[in-house]
Amino acid sequence: MNYMERRHQRMQEEEKREKRLKRRNSRMSWLMCLIGIALLFFYKVNMSTVAAKETKSSTSAASVQTASVPSVAASSDSDSAQKTAALAADWRLILVNRSSPLPTDFAVALTTRKDGSRVDERIEAELEEMFRAAQNDDVALKVCSAYRSVSQQKQLYHAESFASGTPVSVQPAGESEHHTGLALDIVTTSYQTLDSRFVKTPAYAWLQKNSWEYGFVLRYPKDKEKITGVIYEPWHFRYVGKDYAKVMNEKQMCLEEYRQSLGI
Ligand SMILES: [Zn+2]
Repeated sequence: MNYMERRHQRMQEEEKREKRLKRRNSRMSWLMCLIGIALLFFYKVNMSTVAAKETKSSTSAASVQTASVPSVAASSDSDSAQKTAALAADWRLILVNRSSPLPTDFAVALTTRKDGSRVDERIEAELEEMFRAAQNDDVALKVCSAYRSVSQQKQLYHAESFASGTPVSVQPAGESEHHTGLALDIVTTSYQTLDSRFVKTPAYAWLQKNSWEYGFVLRYPKDKEKITGVIYEPWHFRYVGKDYAKVMNEKQMCLEEYRQSLGI
């Protein structure tokens, strides 16, 4: 083999080696590429599993929360319903008028006062306390009318109808607050007529200022005629108890408005 032949052979060997290297590099590139793809695939699968887990746990957390919210709401709803039912059943807030007649099973324990008037025995102490307080202020209060039975009211209504046509300030039997034993027509010894001039007496001024402190409110105020459905009666007072009377006085609410504000 001469020089030229050996050189040619060496060149061929070098070419072969370069080709081998190229093939190896190409295989390595493919392998790296495949590994990259595999890693990317694994990463994606892993991430979607984590995301699915997170979604599941957040959904279950949400469902726990969703489940707990109605139970809290249900419990407060139930408390509120109980409070409303208790208020609706509170005898001090009973509503008797033309659209809300006396319940047929209504019963009241009455007590007879010194002047012969009768009231619900539960209000006697506060009523007498109020009369004593007025007397201490030189105001002579006098009960004109208190409890009236349904038959007494019937007679009164007929008498009023006979005298003046359709009665204005006397309610039909079964629809008068006087049946409850909680309502009183209060006048003063020096003026005992049930009319608007009673507002000029010191007795009216005293009652306006102080009656709520003893649990009584002016039941049919002048500016509430449309709500009560009864004309202004400055002499008609109604026992609602000290707590309710205080709020009604502060908010200047009549019984209909106050009951509505309580949801009953
Ligand atoms: Zn009255």
